[in-house]
Amino acid sequence: MSRAILWFRNDLRLADNMALTAAMAEHDEVLPVLVIDPVQHGPSLFGSDRSGSFRRRFLHQGVLALAAALRSKGSALSVRIGDPASVLLQVSRIWKADVVHAQRLYAWEEQEQASAVATELDLRLHAPNTLLLPGDLPFNVEQLPHVFTAFRTKVEQSSPVREVLPEPERIPSPPYWGERLLGQDELPYVPYPDEPRSVITFHGGRAAGLARLRHYLWDSHAISTYKETRNGMLGADYSTKFSPWLASGALSAREVHQEVKRYEVVNGANESTYWIIFELLWRDFFQFTAAKHGRDLFLRSGIANKPWQGGQDQDRFKQWCEGRTGQPFIDANMHELAATGWMSNRGRQNVASFFVHQLGLDWRMGASWFERMLIDYDPCSNWGNWQYVAGVGNDPREGRRFDPVRQAGMYDPDGAYVRQWS
Ligand SMILES: Cc1cc2nc3c(=O)[nH]c(=O)nc-3n(C[C@H](O)[C@H](O)[C@H](O)COP(=O)(O)OP(=O)(O)OC[C@H]3O[C@@H](n4cnc5c(N)ncnc54)[C@H](O)[C@@H]3O)c2cc1C
Repeated sequence: MSRAILWFRNDLRLADNMALTAAMAEHDEVLPVLVIDPVQHGPSLFGSDRSGSFRRRFLHQGVLALAAALRSKGSALSVRIGDPASVLLQVSRIWKADVVHAQRLYAWEEQEQASAVATELDLRLHAPNTLLLPGDLPFNVEQLPHVFTAFRTKVEQSSPVREVLPEPERIPSPPYWGERLLGQDELPYVPYPDEPRSVITFHGGRAAGLARLRHYLWDSHAISTYKETRNGMLGADYSTKFSPWLASGALSAREVHQEVKRYEVVNGANESTYWIIFELLWRDFFQFTAAKHGRDLFLRSGIANKPWQGGQDQDRFKQWCEGRTGQPFIDANMHELAATGWMSNRGRQNVASFFVHQLGLDWRMGASWFERMLIDYDPCSNWGNWQYVAGVGNDPREGRRFDPVRQAGMYDPDGAYVRQWS
């Protein structure tokens, strides 16, 4: 009889879960454990907690949904709070399981977590939630091109997207392996009413992610005009809004790809349907950038290792966080973020550029604020995009900055967005 721990990380799903598939293939019984490391939710370098109520509520909902899914397969989820290495070692000793299967995560802290687990236990890491598997890239991750276009051109010519793995019928676990869920006071959040102006209501968990996927493709056909609308800022369907479910792993990038391909077969492919895959490649690019550069993704001098002079003036920082900079387009976006945990890609680029280039602040403070506030926070996408805007990352056109007045003229010409969020 062999037993393995299935360590859930940012992969809150049973379908297309390579760690689960491998654990089931190699062992008789599986012990599903999700570890919440308080360090990743506690104070950041700049003071405030690293996760706020939007992401915490979304995570609570996602965990409940995963627990229900495991229950329906005859298994049970055990949620533990603590340092992953200590928690998993304890579980392995009690339950006599010294093999751990888990998803590989590329951000520095997550790599460190895995290394600590691997010193104690036989840790088997499986592919991350990327569109392309690292082993299918035409280069080693260390040779990842510095610029997105070079990466995309190479992978589009040669890297296949793997088929989605099915959900298992049943997941065998030991008879006394009981469910343990998050208590109210564990990772607490301030309950908040749904904001009527929010682009959509974000609910954590797979069912809501699948519903959003269905809506964007099959119900609204918004996918077929994505390329024209994706720079929008108002309303539910200017962009997919898949990111929170991708970040928590309730959806896999390969599942989104498969569904887009199915849509193209039925309704025809166009530039818009392709552009969603193009954006998922941007996501992959930042994941692999994190793998290549490790801790540099979080350092002030960035992956480009350039001196960065931004200051840490607390008053200016607070004005930006609270949407009191006096620049209406910037302030409206910051109000939306504060009220909903969401901001469009156009908004994110503008407020980040303003933070760095107009306010002259240390870009890591802005990235930390996003980490706390964004419902779709993902370390690789967030810190990678911030570095890009700050000019210490992968942007080939250095020093690019957005003029918020011009941007407002282009993307909010009648001022409807600023009126909604002022
Ligand atoms: C300063 C800054 C910080 C960001 N922080 C995050 C973050 O923490 N988490 C996050 O998921 N995205 C982040 N992004 C990227 C992007 O803004 C969001 O992925 C996108 O707005 C999410 O909305 P959507 O799902 O409707 O995207 P869509 O436009 O519908 O795109 C489809 C998917 O492609 C991926 N994608 C699109 N654009 C990007 C991009 N620039 N970088 C990486 N992936 C992308 C996302 O997974 C997205 O769900 C950040 C961008 C900037 C400029």
